[in-house]
Amino acid sequence: MKMDQIDDILPDGRLFLAGEWREGTGAEITSVFPADGRVNRVLRGASAADGQEAIARAKAVQADPAWRVLKPHERARHLYRIADGIEANIDRISMIQSCDTGKTLRETAALAASAAGTFRYYGAVLETMDDELTAQRADSLTLSVHEPLGLVAAITPWNSPIASDAQKVAPALAAGNAVLLKPASWSPLTALELARIVEEAGLPRGLFSVLPGAGREIGNLLVEHPDIARVSFTGGTSTGRMIARKAAEKLMPVSLELGGKSPTIVFDDADMDLALAGVLFGIFSSSGQSCIAGSRLFVQRGVYDTFVGRLVAATRALRVGHPFDAATQVAPLIHEDHRREVAAHVAAALEAGAELLCGGAAPEGDAYAGGSYYLPTILAGVKNTDRICREEVFGPVLAVLPFDDEEDVIAQANDNDYGLACGIWTSDFRKAWRVGRAIRSGTIWHNTYKQFSISTPFGGEGDSGTGREKGRQGLRAYMAQKSFYTDMTGAPHPWAADTVRAT
Ligand code: NAD
Repeated sequence: MKMDQIDDILPDGRLFLAGEWREGTGAEITSVFPADGRVNRVLRGASAADGQEAIARAKAVQADPAWRVLKPHERARHLYRIADGIEANIDRISMIQSCDTGKTLRETAALAASAAGTFRYYGAVLETMDDELTAQRADSLTLSVHEPLGLVAAITPWNSPIASDAQKVAPALAAGNAVLLKPASWSPLTALELARIVEEAGLPRGLFSVLPGAGREIGNLLVEHPDIARVSFTGGTSTGRMIARKAAEKLMPVSLELGGKSPTIVFDDADMDLALAGVLFGIFSSSGQSCIAGSRLFVQRGVYDTFVGRLVAATRALRVGHPFDAATQVAPLIHEDHRREVAAHVAAALEAGAELLCGGAAPEGDAYAGGSYYLPTILAGVKNTDRICREEVFGPVLAVLPFDDEEDVIAQANDNDYGLACGIWTSDFRKAWRVGRAIRSGTIWHNTYKQFSISTPFGGEGDSGTGREKGRQGLRAYMAQKSFYTDMTGAPHPWAADTVRAT
């Protein structure tokens, strides 16, 4: 596809405000193609006033029984139609997302396919999730039922737009809510494309809004507004912490999927080829812009030199290139500003005494001109307490450390504020079980990394957040549980029975 043809498929930049396409009235935001710095779109983001309007309209539509009390199998049909719409448009979504984020087309196509799967899964969960008849303690029928919360705000980051959007929007809609989605300002276009698909799928107008715009403006409004019953947030830890404070003030439930500094552990009995491929994929795929990036690598001393030697050679051989080139493994970072931040982390680590094994710079040559590329980078000679091992870089930067034994590596892996993911490479599954159970982390991967299933819960510990998404219970996170008792005796309550008989 030529660049001028791409322009035809990019969303025009209008917001999707409760079923209506219109210009925002908030601060300007710019979507840039990270491979060459070309501007995709300049758009006016949503203002607080736009948000107020979307909330008011969503409230009216959500309260309408036509949506609120729709039978599960009927509401599920809406989700199946959205899934079909995404699947029918995978190439288009993939192209828009690659322009918006600089990710490879291969990756964005996989993200779009997974988003379709998420909508289909939550349609199926909705159809098959039962309420409970609970054990009786008296002559009454006792039920635990679930109802929609009302209005849900989904606030998402830029690194995997359509997948993280779907992970929130699908269960929230399935649960019978209205959803207001605020994508990140560096990647507003993918969510607007999702809005087009949702509209085409015939979801009642007003139930879904896509409101890109500044976090401090529209993001803030969504968090603070009294009609928003839940915020589902994915993003950085400092933003998440601020949202949690505001949620506490409102006594509003919130789920927070935050940052990570995930350890990857290679024991000396690991299958080295398997571990090598897994470690490379774990840190350098998505150019390291992944919450679960395996950014701290612990290698057992017996194999340290051999393994790290091979790792550096393999890293140098990774193909850094254009997102549209099918051979590319490492595409540009999201934005020039982000590349500067990544480079600053590396510079600070080198100043603090780290040894640069490879990378540590932008690639040179015409092919990279104007793009925000950064070479896959490995640093050694660091301590687990150094800043480079504690702070999330969110780029293709790996810190490598040796370890002695199980006890040592468990202590080092756990000596960190984050607790999102961990990879363990060993041929001994009992060892993987012992170590995996001892490490504070929402997800453990043994002899694999970054593998996901929508049926399996996901979330973090510590500074990586709170709450879980995905899985069957992921639907319940967007519902209010209600207990319902019906008397089966037909007799007046003994406490007042005499009094009643006497009157
Ligand atoms: P960010 O925290 O800067 O922004 C995330 C979202 O929050 C954006 O939409 C942003 O506009 C919005 N926001 C900013 N200020 C706000 C405010 N005051 N009120 C409400 N909303 C506000 O994060 P980012 O740079 O877009 O994304 C990168 C971060 O996301 C990394 O830390 C990464 O680890 C994390 N992340 C976590 C997961 C996970 O599942 N744990 C997944 C992907 C990314």
